[in-house]
Amino acid sequence: MAPALLDRFRSFLDASPTSFHAARVAADLLEARGYTALDERSAPSALPAGARRYVLRGGSIVAFRVGGQNPAEGGFRLAAAHTDSPNLRIKPRPHLRDHGYVRLGVEPYGGVIHATWMDRDLGIAGRVIVRDGAGQRATLVDLRRPLCRIPTLAIHLNRQVNEEGMKLNAQKDLPALFALSDDKTAEPLRDLLAEAAGVSPDALLAWDLGLYDLTPAVVSGVNGEFLHSARLDNLASCHAGLEALLASDDANLPASTAVLALFDHEEIGSTSERGAQSAWFEHVLERIVRDGAGSNAGGLSRALTQSWLISADMAHAVHPAHGDKHDGEHMPKLNAGPVVKQHTAQRYGTEADGAAFFFRLCEQAEVPAQWFVNRSDLACGSTVGPLVAARLGVRAIDVGNPMLSMHSAREMCGTGDHARMVAALRGYMAGLA
Ligand SMILES: [Zn+2]
Repeated sequence: MAPALLDRFRSFLDASPTSFHAARVAADLLEARGYTALDERSAPSALPAGARRYVLRGGSIVAFRVGGQNPAEGGFRLAAAHTDSPNLRIKPRPHLRDHGYVRLGVEPYGGVIHATWMDRDLGIAGRVIVRDGAGQRATLVDLRRPLCRIPTLAIHLNRQVNEEGMKLNAQKDLPALFALSDDKTAEPLRDLLAEAAGVSPDALLAWDLGLYDLTPAVVSGVNGEFLHSARLDNLASCHAGLEALLASDDANLPASTAVLALFDHEEIGSTSERGAQSAWFEHVLERIVRDGAGSNAGGLSRALTQSWLISADMAHAVHPAHGDKHDGEHMPKLNAGPVVKQHTAQRYGTEADGAAFFFRLCEQAEVPAQWFVNRSDLACGSTVGPLVAARLGVRAIDVGNPMLSMHSAREMCGTGDHARMVAALRGYMAGLA
């Protein structure tokens, strides 16, 4: 990977401790390249060929560059990923007091590997809602310093930990140590947040906050072949999609309209007002067809029948000690290129035509590609591809770069694969294959 791209990737990872931050950072990157915010409440306004817009909703964002034809004629090139990652969410009334300690009560979000959150230096980030005159407003906060820790129990008090594994009860064991205080009325988190948001503590109405590991993304391995970071699933695919969209060249505007959708709430099933199962994405696409130049005869349904969706989410690389967890012929390796994921029960949306289409995109971009099919005797994961495919009636392809430690507080992938995914998606958005 070119150093500049790797640096941009690491910056994106570090600047995005929550889905709200990821969507905001994405919006900032888009604005720097001429994309402007589209207010969903606004009356219809023309979207001429080449127009660049984005729609931001909390931790989700949809960005698009209108192609040379109305999507009813030229179709969409849709790409999707998700901004959220498993983490520990801070409860509304979080202060727990035991033995002179103050801990913050948390609720696991998504498929957290509990043990990976232990003994780490944790910051707090998310969205707070504050009083604003007679109304309210949202503001992002990022308390980027060591504030919390979830301490392990010493081995002397838990002699079987290595034989039996670290068993952690989410209610009892995961609240995060935050302060030493015997004051039963103090609410130190509220005070910190109010200060960060620039309001008085009683103006703080509610929050969506999570803990996060403060360790920045680093390159590792004797030849710099690995990248270690939190939230690679799925900020890696979000960033690849952004890089691809931002690389698009106005001088060669394709007929198709490139759309990048970065959804919140994938890790909890995508059923929300801004998740991949919502009507929201469909409404944005309808608007592009309706307000785009040229003939929109046939509307959204005609546009979608000549469109593809590439759903990019990270894939399981073979683990060095657990090769038996993979099917031997469909065993992705780090730094061996993007992975096409297929599952016969449509946990992944890929079928033969989509796989062939993506392999041709990779050929054109001169990057290798790999297959992933789950072992037939293991339950398969899923992602936004089949959900959006079913909701919109659009052909979907599920792909992703290979990684290890998926859903750990600190994951890893290869440094060589990111540029390849960017190249394949860039060709896709440019109308190739
Ligand atoms: Zn994912």
